[in-house]
Order: sequence, then C-alpha cells, then structure tokens
Amino acid sequence: MVRIVTFLCLLTGLTAMAQTGQNNLLAGRTTGIQPFLEYGLGEDRLGGAKMTFLDTNVLVRVVDSTIINYKVQLSKNHFAYLAKTSFKKDSSAKIPPYYLTNSWLVSGDDKYDYVTVTLDEKLPYRSLQQINPSRIVVDIFGATSNTNWITQRTSAREIKNTYYEQPEDDVFRVIIELRHDQHWGYSIYYQEKKLVIRIKRQPTDLDIKKMKIAVDAGHGGDNEGATGVSTRIQEKKYTLLIAKQLENALEESGAAVFMTRTKDTSLSMLERIEMLKKEEPDFLVSIHLNSSAKDSIRGVSTYYRYIGFRPLSKYIEESMLEIGLTDFGNIGSFNFSLNGPTDYPNCLVEVAFLSNREDEQLILDPEFHKAVALQIVKGIKEWLKSCKKDKD
Ligand SMILES: [Zn+2]
Repeated sequence: MVRIVTFLCLLTGLTAMAQTGQNNLLAGRTTGIQPFLEYGLGEDRLGGAKMTFLDTNVLVRVVDSTIINYKVQLSKNHFAYLAKTSFKKDSSAKIPPYYLTNSWLVSGDDKYDYVTVTLDEKLPYRSLQQINPSRIVVDIFGATSNTNWITQRTSAREIKNTYYEQPEDDVFRVIIELRHDQHWGYSIYYQEKKLVIRIKRQPTDLDIKKMKIAVDAGHGGDNEGATGVSTRIQEKKYTLLIAKQLENALEESGAAVFMTRTKDTSLSMLERIEMLKKEEPDFLVSIHLNSSAKDSIRGVSTYYRYIGFRPLSKYIEESMLEIGLTDFGNIGSFNFSLNGPTDYPNCLVEVAFLSNREDEQLILDPEFHKAVALQIVKGIKEWLKSCKKDKD
C-alpha cells in the first residue's frame, strides 16, 4: 500500500515537472571542475547514481529544474540531472533535433590508443564497460550517423575493432572492442568539436616493478571519518597508518607509489580526483575503515563501480581473507567518488569495521596494518598475473 501511494505521488510530481518544463527551455553548457550527470534524483549517503562525468562546454538543454539540479534532455528519450553549479547559459546555442556525425580516426601514439569522432557540436555522452568480450561502449546523444568511413591505423594496438550502431534516431553508439580481457581505463574529452576516447593499453610488462600505483588514505584534516566504538579512535588517522604501510610494502616490491596524502590534510574528493588525473597512475587503491549501526557486523570489503575494474578488487578481497578477516563482500556498482573515474582501474578497500569491537582491536594493532599491506600487495600481484593472457 505504502508503495502504491509513493508511486502515485512520484507520477504526479513528474507530470507537474514536465508541465513547467514546457515553458522553460534553456540552452547552455557544462562548466566548472568535473561536471557530471546523474540518472535520477535518488539519494543514498553517497549521492544520486552518477551516469557520467562530462567535459566542460558540452551543450545541454534544460527542460526543468529542482532546487540544486537542472533536468536536461539528452535526446528524444533520454534525460539526466546536472548540478546548477555545473551549468552556464549560452543564449547563442541552438539545439536542432539532431547533429550529424562525420568520419572517424582510430590511431595510437607511444602511450595510448585514440578513437576520434568528428562532430559539429560538443554533445553529451555516456559510456560503459563490458566484459566477455571486453568492450567500451560510448553513446553520443543528439547525434545521427552520417559517418562515411572509419580509418583504422596499425598504431592503435589495444583496439581490436571499432564500429557504430544507431540504437535510436538521435543516439549514436560507438563500440570499441579491446584486445585484452582486462580494462586499463579510458578518458573521454573534446578536442575542438572532435570527441576523443583515449584508451589506456595493457602494459606490455605486467611486473609490479613497472607499475605506478596510487594509494589514497581516506578522510583527513577536518574530515575525521568514522570513530571507534569503544576507543573513539578516528578513521582518518588509521587509514593513513595503513596507507603508509601499503606505500612501504609496494615500494619494497619495486613499484612507484603516489600518495594522495601523507599527513593529516583536508582534501576534497574533487581535489583527489584532479590530483590523480594529473598523476596518471596505472591503478588506484583507496583505504577506508567501515562503520555500521549494528555492532555485530564486521569484516573486510572491497568495492568497484565499473565491471571492467572488478578483478583488482576481487583479488584484493580474496587475499585479505587469508589473514582471518570476515568476508563482508566484494561490492559492485558502488557510488563512491574515487570509484567514479574511468581513467584507471580503482578499488576501495574497507579494511574492517570501527563499529565492531573485535575489528576495532585489530585496527589498533600496528602489526595488523603491516599484514593488511602485505595482503593487498599479494592481491595486486595475483591480479597482475591473471592479466597476462594476450589475445590476437
Ligand atoms: Zn571512510
């Protein structure tokens, strides 16, 4: 019953929104640092489900608004929400029913492969990762095919095939087949009005010694995180202690390490993401400590957002279980900010629960920090070993 009432309210709400929307069309562009689209207005403690990050100056059409968001129309059948702070009005922008695509170039340089799609406007897009077979799929909204050719050069080494579909009249889908099962990340941006999908290749040498690994200690400064149930210890302090042990263990293995923080610094998620973007790590491990309202809940968990990045988190979870931690789980589709970037594989490790007395005792123990660091390194090495299969 409750459900039906909620559903009806929702319907009425949506109709009201659509009606106000009719008189309120507004064209503009994305602006600011890391603008992103959300699917809906749902809220959990980490915010609404993110659809995609967008480049700046991408054309969007506002059809309605809430207090903090604009509802934007991506294509005839697709809508999303954009923070008002990520929008600037552009009265010169015209939005025709669709834009035509032009020819493509698939190529590579010494580091990356690129798929470049020529467009007449910076249109919104979203992407997803597929596995078995491994593919990157990018939908460009408001675009209709007029593509006459796709030039594919041998300098592109990770891309096996590139082609398109037109699943809807104004949704143009770019499909990129990868040579390796493992996704190593990709970035999407505009160069003038060309949409560029830059793809990271699987490193030819998968020895951990050749890796640049980013380690993120959760929280810090005025963001204290969770507190210990019986001792009131602060999460931010213990994430840093564990992260430093991880830094040591990785360096002992010969890897290059980048730390997002080494002191008790305040760092926003955006600052961390921007920092990581500049550093271009091969992959990221973020360290946090969990907390639950139920003090019986304990154990280790690892998190990923995109399916192509799952293996790293799965190997780390499995490795962590070897030191006797309870398996809280390997958790997908997670809306944590540092699981958001598509640029490199990333994994959040919630080492144990500060809200559980037994786990809290472990968290207090410096020997446990060392053991956790060694198990994470072991998980990473197992993961790298699993990536070795090359396909033709
Ligand atoms: Zn945390």
